[in-house]
Amino acid sequence: MAFNILVADDSETMRAVVKKTVEMSGVPIGEFHEAANGKEALAILENNWIDVILSDINMPEMGGMELLRTVSASEDYKRIPLIFITTESSEARMEEAKSLGVAGYIKKPFVPETIKAILYEVLAKAYEHRLASDMPHRDDTNSDMDF
Ligand SMILES: [Mg+2]
Repeated sequence: MAFNILVADDSETMRAVVKKTVEMSGVPIGEFHEAANGKEALAILENNWIDVILSDINMPEMGGMELLRTVSASEDYKRIPLIFITTESSEARMEEAKSLGVAGYIKKPFVPETIKAILYEVLAKAYEHRLASDMPHRDDTNSDMDF
């Protein structure tokens, strides 16, 4: 079974980079959804089954912290791990994110290996039962994609 992924970032370029990086990571992707802010992300959650969220923090309309707060407080969505990909690196922000149950924290700029490592770690923790048969090796068909 593949994973449905939601990426929220107000930068279209950043969303494309994250998407490419996730594709290259070898994680089996089902659907890939994109949102430009927290509100759009919530609308996507309402209408689609999402397995993991990769979100920016600083976004107009609704930022990542509020998105995380909403997801964590929702009976329907709290099962979904959320990983921040952000330029925010203050201890206070990281502590806040942790207290709200963030699954992972990646600082921009990132190297692809960091996203890959954290995504695998988070998926392994949340979906252990799916792993044995589904997680492909790094040398899979996706590895010849380049930026
Ligand atoms: Mg931003």
